Amino acid sequence: MLKQGLIKRIGDGESTQIWGCNWIPRTGMYKPLSSKQPNPPTRVCELIDHTSMTWNTDIVRHYFSPMDSKAILQIPLSLRKQEDCWAWHHERNGLFSVCSAYRMLIQAKKSREDYFESRASCSDIETRQKEWKHLWGMQLPSKIKVFCWRLALNSIPTGKVLKSRNLATTAECKICGAGEDSWEHALLHCTMSRCVWALVDEEITELLATLRISDPKHCALFMYCNIPQVEGIKILATCWAIWHARRKAIHEGVFQSPLSIMAKVNQLIQELETINGIKPEGMKKFQTKQKSQRWLAPEQGLCKINTDAVVDRVGSKGAIAAVCRGNQGEFIAASTMVIPNIIEPETLEAMACLEALALAQDCAIRRIKVASDCLGVVKNIKKMTRCAYMMILQDIHRRSKTFDCVRFAHEGRDFNREAHYLAKHACQFGAGRHVWLGSPPVFMDVNVLH
Ligand SMILES: [Zn+2]
Repeated sequence: MLKQGLIKRIGDGESTQIWGCNWIPRTGMYKPLSSKQPNPPTRVCELIDHTSMTWNTDIVRHYFSPMDSKAILQIPLSLRKQEDCWAWHHERNGLFSVCSAYRMLIQAKKSREDYFESRASCSDIETRQKEWKHLWGMQLPSKIKVFCWRLALNSIPTGKVLKSRNLATTAECKICGAGEDSWEHALLHCTMSRCVWALVDEEITELLATLRISDPKHCALFMYCNIPQVEGIKILATCWAIWHARRKAIHEGVFQSPLSIMAKVNQLIQELETINGIKPEGMKKFQTKQKSQRWLAPEQGLCKINTDAVVDRVGSKGAIAAVCRGNQGEFIAASTMVIPNIIEPETLEAMACLEALALAQDCAIRRIKVASDCLGVVKNIKKMTRCAYMMILQDIHRRSKTFDCVRFAHEGRDFNREAHYLAKHACQFGAGRHVWLGSPPVFMDVNVLH
């Protein structure tokens, strides 16, 4: 039974069998499916380029299915040689507990039974009912609610939906000509939608860019439940407005400007504000967002390194950044790194902390405070958990020992805007590391402290 829930965390890959061992951290299936080619490699180390300590993408893509290679290339590798080690997959911290094993067993037994009796599992039905209830409970004008409802049922008539119902000969987008007009394409990625999203607050578009939810119902629910109400409403209203503008463009040949689409959204929200009495302060904050750049000074005698990580818009790479300032806030150095394939936010945040240590070493600074806006990573660094990016944690741990003093701290996003901005900007650079010593990059606002 233990075997079912144990997974190898890959260090150098020497002791892990590719086909016989659990080592891919994803839900359901921890081994690769099968090889596309005859005589595939047998040990994970054969997939790693040991000089750069990165995955050998050519080999991985050659032997594994797209689904497998994507999952494999997302596994973060340590920069030093470390042995593979076992972890318990069913807990985020990688530690085994009887309770967790029991949960895994019960869950597995149930899904097997459900599968054989071909019924949706009971908890599924319950969650589903809750989800629908939630959808209907949204405080939105009914036209938007209906739109969300149709979105959730995946029945808004996109090219893809029309083709699947034989109502269209092709699934292509009638606006930009893209091959498949799915709901994500229509609302988020089409040229026309992008122009509208470009007018929306940066934090929202970022959130949308990192969202990887293929079920439209979960997407609608996510927007409504997991982000502040005002933002959630704005996103859904924008989706609705984009959808209407698309229909007008496709069926009536009337093209609205992105600005006028946005004006419609704002008008809707104002109406909503008066009807539902949603707090006007929240609205105002949304419309004229103050980009206050704040910075917290470290303890006496320490330099401060703020770190952050972002995933690029198409979700094919991550970028991390570290900004080092002295005790009085004077700029010392900054660095960014663009990392192909790694798109798991927390893994990237951990890599950003490691990059902070590398930057401090470049500057020969021996006493530092590293700040991250990701609480999970800061906790995991302190506890050295066996989480999916434990090899990075071990690198951090090892590297920390070469300093006189290293402290890790969690700080809110408001205090971390500079590193965030830098990471975001780095997304457009090519893969690799970029360092600025002494003077900040030209595109960075140097007066962030005031
Ligand atoms: Zn399109």
